[in-house]
Amino acid sequence: MMKAAVITQFNQPWEIKQIPIPEPKEGQVLIKIHASGMCGTDLHASHGLLPLNLPVVAGHEPVGEIVKLGPGVTHLKLKDRVGVSWHQAGCGRCHYCQSKRDLYCDGLEGGAYTWMQLGGGNSEYMLAFADACTLIPDKLSYEEAAPLFCAGYTVSSGYFNAHPVPGEVIAVLGVGGLGHIAIQLAKAKGHKVIAITEQEDKKALSKKLGADEVIVASKDIGQKLLALGGADIILDCGNSSKMAQEAFTGLKPEGRLVVMGIDPKPLEISCMHLILSQRKIIGSTQNHRSDLVDILDLAACGKVKPMIEVFSLSNINEALEKLKNHSLRFRAVIKLI
Ligand SMILES: [Zn+2]
Ligand SMILES: [Zn+2]
Repeated sequence: MMKAAVITQFNQPWEIKQIPIPEPKEGQVLIKIHASGMCGTDLHASHGLLPLNLPVVAGHEPVGEIVKLGPGVTHLKLKDRVGVSWHQAGCGRCHYCQSKRDLYCDGLEGGAYTWMQLGGGNSEYMLAFADACTLIPDKLSYEEAAPLFCAGYTVSSGYFNAHPVPGEVIAVLGVGGLGHIAIQLAKAKGHKVIAITEQEDKKALSKKLGADEVIVASKDIGQKLLALGGADIILDCGNSSKMAQEAFTGLKPEGRLVVMGIDPKPLEISCMHLILSQRKIIGSTQNHRSDLVDILDLAACGKVKPMIEVFSLSNINEALEKLKNHSLRFRAVIKLI
């Protein structure tokens, strides 16, 4: 048996329970979880906003060591340090899988999502497909690696999906769980970085993280960006369509707005602002595995350092509460060992 934080009812604290240790099937491994990052999506799950059959164990930023290999696993070894992201596998046969874009596939029988079908990171052990495991660089601690498997991966894909070129100016909209990583990543890649936040108290922090300029505003953001010369890329790391609209006019010609956060409200952009300067809006999620490997490497050489608050499994509801109150700086990590 193993200890796990189980969602048994929506809108209720998670229960620490003893549940059976799963057995890896063909192509799977059993991971002894060392750390598990928490993400805004966990809150959505807890509030019943995702199609989940309860009980379920959440946690889709799991990292740990491999303790058991299922049949047919050849490229991983026992004791390998690995992490797993949200989407693990496709059917292998559809057009998307054949072109190595299995994030668009939903054809695998039973599904292959971390914690939705395969168990989550908020437990002592978890199953994963061997092909979905990514090795963690030796120099990177488990606690710092965990947030990179969702937050870091998302930001890295956002950066690469914008197809940046050297010398371009990157604005990071929102300095939170994603944004604080995005500032560091953009700086590490050699860009001029402009952080945009509504909160005065995040100004000094943004500079410390590598921002060359900081705009503290919730209105006229576009004009303020243009006053600083404009941005070629806006990495929208918040979840406010209104802020993204405000910032959009601060893009230079051929500039790209990369949307990564979710706001139920629509994004309303004037056609004139799109057409005349040939700007683009790009929807972005965790894309190529190379994006994840890139951010792991940046973290291993100290250029990106997620800011984390560490909790034990028994205190997981405290982390959930802080996530709910937006009081985390910036990612909660549950330490299991
Ligand atoms: Zn996530
Ligand atoms: Zn497929």
